[in-house]
Amino acid sequence: MQKWVYTFGGGTAEGHAGDRNLLGGKGANLAEMCKLGLPVPPGLTIITTACTHYYENSRTIPDSLKEEVRSGIRRMEEITGRTFGHNERPLLLSVRSGARASMPGMMDTVLNLGLNDETVQALGHDAGDARFAWDSYRRFIQMYGDVVMGLDHEVFEEILEDEKARLGHEQDTELSAVEWQHVIARYKQTIEEELGESFPQDPEVQLWGAIGAVFASWMNARAVTYRNLHNIPADWGTAVNVQAMVFGNLGNSSATGVAFTRNPSTGESALYGEFLVNAQGEDVVAGIRTPQNITEDARIASGSDKPSLEKLMPEAFAEFSEICARLEGHYRDMQDLEFTIERGKLWMLQTRSGKRTAKAALKIAVEMAEEGLISKEEAVARIDPASLDQLLHPTIDPRARRDVIGSGLPASPGAATGEIVFTSEEAVHAQDEGRKVILVRVETSPEDIHGMHAAEGILTTRGGMTSHAAVVARGMGTPCVSGAGTLRVDLRNELLIAQGVTLKKGDIITIDGSSGQVLKGAIPMLQPELSGDFGRIMEWADATRRMKVRTNAETPADARAARSFGAEGIGLCRTEHMFFEDGRINVMREMILAEDEAGRRTALAKLLPMQRSDFVELFEIMHGLPVTIRLLDPPLHEFLPKTDAEIEEVASILSFDPAELRQRVDALHEFNPMLGHRGCRLAISYPEIAEMQARAIFEAACLAAKSTGAAVVPEIMVPLVGLKAELDFVKERIEAVAREVIAEAGVSIEYLIGTMIELPRAALRAHVIAESAEFFSFGTNDLTQTTFGISRDDASAFLSTYLQKGIVERDPFVQLDFDGVGELIQIAAERGRRTRNNLKLGICGEHGGDPASIHFCEEAGLDYVSCSPFRVPIARLAAAQAAFVGRTSAGRSND
Ligand code: ADP
Ligand code: MG
Ligand code: MG
Repeated sequence: MQKWVYTFGGGTAEGHAGDRNLLGGKGANLAEMCKLGLPVPPGLTIITTACTHYYENSRTIPDSLKEEVRSGIRRMEEITGRTFGHNERPLLLSVRSGARASMPGMMDTVLNLGLNDETVQALGHDAGDARFAWDSYRRFIQMYGDVVMGLDHEVFEEILEDEKARLGHEQDTELSAVEWQHVIARYKQTIEEELGESFPQDPEVQLWGAIGAVFASWMNARAVTYRNLHNIPADWGTAVNVQAMVFGNLGNSSATGVAFTRNPSTGESALYGEFLVNAQGEDVVAGIRTPQNITEDARIASGSDKPSLEKLMPEAFAEFSEICARLEGHYRDMQDLEFTIERGKLWMLQTRSGKRTAKAALKIAVEMAEEGLISKEEAVARIDPASLDQLLHPTIDPRARRDVIGSGLPASPGAATGEIVFTSEEAVHAQDEGRKVILVRVETSPEDIHGMHAAEGILTTRGGMTSHAAVVARGMGTPCVSGAGTLRVDLRNELLIAQGVTLKKGDIITIDGSSGQVLKGAIPMLQPELSGDFGRIMEWADATRRMKVRTNAETPADARAARSFGAEGIGLCRTEHMFFEDGRINVMREMILAEDEAGRRTALAKLLPMQRSDFVELFEIMHGLPVTIRLLDPPLHEFLPKTDAEIEEVASILSFDPAELRQRVDALHEFNPMLGHRGCRLAISYPEIAEMQARAIFEAACLAAKSTGAAVVPEIMVPLVGLKAELDFVKERIEAVAREVIAEAGVSIEYLIGTMIELPRAALRAHVIAESAEFFSFGTNDLTQTTFGISRDDASAFLSTYLQKGIVERDPFVQLDFDGVGELIQIAAERGRRTRNNLKLGICGEHGGDPASIHFCEEAGLDYVSCSPFRVPIARLAAAQAAFVGRTSAGRSND
């Protein structure tokens, strides 16, 4: 018989941490904590397959589930000595969602379930605290009314605010039992008015209502958005945890809090967290009251005058720190914990591997490896390559003048500048228009995810380090300042009001997520460096990886940046970029417009020294590392003027008749330039171009070898080859030039001639092409275009629709299409190497910097990947991970 329910509590559990797929992350870890003998309120987990069953059977629950839940609750009753729905010692429950992958803030929890007009009396009586019982009841009605019955939580907040104002209270904790009863009466009345039904009094009905709501919330818009953004499949489903309640709102010896075993922002190895006295559930993260620090050190550092947990409840604190250390050691990772203290007794409610900034991730991984908790390989494996992007974020130049208008908490590092917008819709809209914005909110909620993604930075005026804004921003690597209390948002008039200044929507501000400062205007920024922990991880990564990492670069600035990021050569130098520069473009045009070969050669002779000096510089920067130079690739019309005005101007510079120039431009027009007269086809029509480029390369190689003392072995790459004969034709010309230069210089020159593989035909005929080619470089941008028959420049019109409608899983121009383009790469690699077993293989498309694609390259046995300079560190790390973990789930199929 199918088992739908796993119980935990009382020192044992039916599941354990390894059952994550079945129990969800939260359930699996609750079970594990029980097994470790930690104080966890007893409970049960309804497994994820029950959720899948629910959706596959028109939203109904499996038959035997009810009975299993009932017997699970009986077990909880035995352990706690309380009875669910009973009028003497009522057992109250929390109903909590918990998917395989943690989805913070995405699914809703219902607390204090089981309360009704009778059990609330019993609870108060039993605890000897009526205020507590009514506070719990009103919380239950609020949550249940919102999550299960679908009444907007603001309805309840308004009533509460209204009552507080009427009674002259500031804090929720100030309300007495009688006052809460009054609030509750209004809550219930509003529910009846708004929904035409009354608040359910039967605990059984409440329970199944809540369980159904958890299942239903798996498909709510917030959850769907989150899953799409994080590639979580819809059919995973969520588990439901039903757990005995423990109460942090049982007066001043009770509290609730969240903590990290290390600082999630900096990585510092010290317990870090926040708590509230006499509070429950989400009070800490909701930003309703300002939370207190857990440790005394943190309190002092933050300058808070409110006592730390360490001072206030030393015994519970001591037990808690011990548990933290134990859990970190057990899971061998930084933990994110939730706990509640009920009348001095500590209860653990959750543990999971904590989300952290890239900076913290590096520090934690390096320190854990040094502490001997994990190996160096594991340390390397723990870093998400894409997250390194965060460290490549600019920071504010310390020498810059800072016009500080306010400050809050340094919630997510990095600095960002942009226009002020106040809604997520505006942020998304601005991004579509290519404008950079800072999303300014009182606080954020899961509905803001889209806007948060679109913004350069996030600023909130309320909420702590664990507020929604802070947690989500850190996860996304977006700079964030939270809880900037000195600033005020006036939504109606679209103003951000600071002491002394008022800013409007559209005004420019800068936020510094590392210091918490909010500044007026744009501030000069500094580019980051790869030192410290970053350097260590890179060192360890380099020791593990097999593939080399090169860069795509044609300018000295890019080449130098790439070297500083650890590039091991140039995988793609696009020579045409060098012709677009001022002072060269007209010589290039002269060459294109020449009547005959002699005319072209005259112009090419002028280009030769320019190309040569470019190459000398690149060779010198690369100091003996391999440099792959691609011969002229784009269709010639790209170099010619387009508008009438441009034609006039160029005609006068080149002393050409404008009408005739117009004619020549028109004649070079192509219907399908991507598939037109370009690549090696140019070199075949005009061999003198390739000859000039080859000469520039060889002469530069001689000069650079002399100046650097390092041997320079240029790799000359012939683009867009589909036929061996094409390559042979160009290769012969290059070799002839090589012989000339060798004779002239009296030195021997080593070089390689190879081809880009960017046409399906070339991939299929690789064994033949490899007879002539000494290396292949997969030009995956064009190979993706030519395999799919999709022009990248025109794809935006329909590719986003394809993504939306699920026709493709992901953009094949971002992540390699493993099954189609990938198979061509595998075929080419395998056939090419069959002919020439030392054939050098690399990739130089955009995909060379994409971690999942890099994993594919490792599997395909490529020798190196080449990517843009700023992605080099990401590629180094991804290549290392690929070397020992193999392809990840990120590499899912498009078919
Ligand atoms: P989330 O996934 O959003 O963190 P949780 O299921 O962890 O949701 O619940 C949120 C909060 O509710 C917890 O941090 C805790 O404060 C409170 N809570 C959950 N279960 C219990 C319980 N059994 N007793 C007391 N409080 C609980
Ligand atoms: Mg929640
Ligand atoms: Mg939680």
